[in-house]
Amino acid sequence: MIKNWESLEAECKKCRRCNLCDTRTNLVFGEGNLKSKILFVGEGPGYNEDVQGRPFVGRSGKLLDNLLEEINLSREKIYISNIVKCRPPENRDPLPEEQEKYINWLRNQVYIMRPKIIVTLGRIASLKIIDSEIKITRDHGIFTLKKGVWFMPTLHPPPF
Ligand code: SF4
Repeated sequence: MIKNWESLEAECKKCRRCNLCDTRTNLVFGEGNLKSKILFVGEGPGYNEDVQGRPFVGRSGKLLDNLLEEINLSREKIYISNIVKCRPPENRDPLPEEQEKYINWLRNQVYIMRPKIIVTLGRIASLKIIDSEIKITRDHGIFTLKKGVWFMPTLHPPPF
């Protein structure tokens, strides 16, 4: 495990572990408050995120900002990352092997950040991170405690 955030980001930005690196414009490492105890994890960058190199921008980002505001949160109070860091072509779901190659980057982010709450945005992130049996329409909003961390699946703000 890499113990320093800057080194982790620098290493990750060189990543060519899966084919998504061939079609990405920018790798989207994540963004937010590293001292926060709340980590949001989405599925992967979309078109706008790929162009800007930032997570959850464009209309889905605006929707996420509004949802955060409703629960008295903001991007300055949380950290946001994704299951995969590079945009899958045509916004398709990340393939299992792509998720598997990327998940170590996310594990390393969690190792450094030590969040107390992890909120997964959408079905793919919830299945991968919380429980492979999750049904997102049934289970969204329900907290589960695992190894001292509270996990909550949510519906994904629609991509645009
Ligand atoms: S999606 Fe993840 S594993 Fe694949 S190239 Fe990007 S950072 Fe590396």
